[in-house]
Amino acid sequence: MTKPETDTELTPKEPLQGEAHGGTATREQAEAAVRTLMEWIGENPNREGLLGTPGRVARAYQELFSGYNEDPKEILRRTFEEVEGYDEMVVLRDIRFESHCEHHILPIIGRAHVAYLPSHRVIGISKLARIVDIYARRLQIQEKLTVQIADTIDEVLRPKGVAVVVQASHECMTTRGVHKSGVSMVTSRMTGDFRSDASTRREFLNIIGNPATRDM
Ligand SMILES: [Zn+2]
Repeated sequence: MTKPETDTELTPKEPLQGEAHGGTATREQAEAAVRTLMEWIGENPNREGLLGTPGRVARAYQELFSGYNEDPKEILRRTFEEVEGYDEMVVLRDIRFESHCEHHILPIIGRAHVAYLPSHRVIGISKLARIVDIYARRLQIQEKLTVQIADTIDEVLRPKGVAVVVQASHECMTTRGVHKSGVSMVTSRMTGDFRSDASTRREFLNIIGNPATRDM
């Protein structure tokens, strides 16, 4: 996918060094927790190669979980436009995302396809991708991610319908546990006309291609 245009007003604020990142724990506590995990797996957190690791992990977490600092509904409310007349389906497909499962904090890598049928409000397509990213950058299960994307668009834009299909592979399945590589999970949420009208749903599924037979 093409990168969404940068929008300075939407750049997440950079937490200050040592400042709590959205939550109640301090940076020092987060780094101590990483050291504890390293000790638990049998490492020595004081060996030279690991001295900077707790700090790097904390910074990586700030980036990977920056979605807690942003309100997707606020972003949609700020940016929609009233447009008369355009009532065709708007589809953004193959929005790549990286998320983390809330069961193992391991990556969920996938793509989302998002469509809506405008009634009187439209939104820049880059904002649809931003909504996906904000929810993806939280601890997730794929079903919840799918519903949150669809219901947020539905609630703020009040379109005639929203369709979201998410296909993803879960590293907690591919790198541990049952060790099944090449498995992807497909979830969907349809509202309004996408749910009630088979031909609208079919048009959307044709545009995105059948996720069950596509490569990731
Ligand atoms: Zn998991």
